[in-house]
Amino acid sequence: MNMRDITHHIKALEGMFEIDRKLIRLALTAEEALADIFRITDVTADFNQHRVLKHMQTNRLSETHFASSTGYGYNDAGREVLERIFAGVMGTEAALVRPQMISGSHAIATALFGALRPGDELLSVTGAPYDTLRKIIGITPAKGSLMEHGIVYKEAALNGMEADYEAIKSLITPKTKVAAIQRSKGYSWRKSLSVTEINGFISFIKAINQDIICFVDNCYGEFVEEEEPKADLMAGSLIKNPGGGLAPCGGYVVGRADLVEAAACRLNVPGAGLDMGPTLGLTGTFLQGLFMAPQIVAGALKGAMFAGWMAHALGYDVLPGLHESRSDIVQAIKLRSPEAVAAFCKGVQMAAPVDSFVTPEPWDMPGYGCPVIMAAGTFVQGSSIELSADAPMRPPYTVFFQGGLSYAHSRLGALMGLNEVCKISD
Ligand SMILES: *Cc1c(COP(=O)(O)O)cnc(C)c1O
Repeated sequence: MNMRDITHHIKALEGMFEIDRKLIRLALTAEEALADIFRITDVTADFNQHRVLKHMQTNRLSETHFASSTGYGYNDAGREVLERIFAGVMGTEAALVRPQMISGSHAIATALFGALRPGDELLSVTGAPYDTLRKIIGITPAKGSLMEHGIVYKEAALNGMEADYEAIKSLITPKTKVAAIQRSKGYSWRKSLSVTEINGFISFIKAINQDIICFVDNCYGEFVEEEEPKADLMAGSLIKNPGGGLAPCGGYVVGRADLVEAAACRLNVPGAGLDMGPTLGLTGTFLQGLFMAPQIVAGALKGAMFAGWMAHALGYDVLPGLHESRSDIVQAIKLRSPEAVAAFCKGVQMAAPVDSFVTPEPWDMPGYGCPVIMAAGTFVQGSSIELSADAPMRPPYTVFFQGGLSYAHSRLGALMGLNEVCKISD
């Protein structure tokens, strides 16, 4: 970049968004420092783009598949092709990809209820699960939870940031039916697991008992690497990575055909699993989102790297750290005070295309154990592949920053968030 470009940059950001000049200069340094890793991120995105395209071609995707179905949704060829493409991309036998599953939590619950029966044990091998899972499982009592259905829950706590293999081994019993692995850190301060690490876990568990169903909560992880985990069963949200910012709702369950069928019977009714379910005109949108997803994820990843670099330069602890590899699109920043968290979220909200004029406030969001503050001026409500930041209002006041439908937007979100933080600490 030459001096003229830089001056132009500074003027635009200063003038349009009132970002401090010092922060803009720091941003230019950040981008120079990140140039190599950005290039690697683009190469991964290209590979994934080709992978998605190939599965669309192999399955002979055609315009007729975008036809809508209503009512029972029997004989919906588009839905069947969508699910075959999804299974191919995820490297699994089968897939359930439906607008009837609202989001990730619903897809995860559908997968787990499909696989588990009264008396079975569910073992989380990555410590406490994501907040919304607490009520699904029944750790926090809730109507209709897995525990209320007689499923026993066990948890292998993490050993610091790492999984505790000894603890996992000691908690596995002949009744252990499902071992659950969470790829992304969620709202906790731990490493997100790489695909290689997850596959290692699965081998470890299978060596103890081949029959244990290894389940992966794949939320936020799709397309970050060049392949997805090799699990018996996986689930995720279409308003995160694989929906490419276009899916207006939805979730997916992928894996072994019998387990996907069981999930479909849970979602629909026993006896009519995968064969019913109206697509209501969304098949084309889901597929277009999937097609866009590798590039969208790359932009979000670069935004996360940028936010991490900047926050680190400003003196905050960040996770992943500057030179750590990534397995999800989330950047955690330990802001250390509720005021800083609120300021960061205010700035991110100011960068939003929708509702940029509102100030986010903490609220008791259903499914979460403490007040949560969220910046999300998104086209799809709650979509976190779009620019968003959220934080449970509890020490050590860590904000989780993710998404952005383009790198430029993600970068602006990080800049405006940090700009507000700098204002209160000056
Ligand atoms: C987002 C997420 C979920 C599901 O949450 P939804 O808001 O229902 O999509 C589950 N697990 C993890 C790790 C997540 O990040």
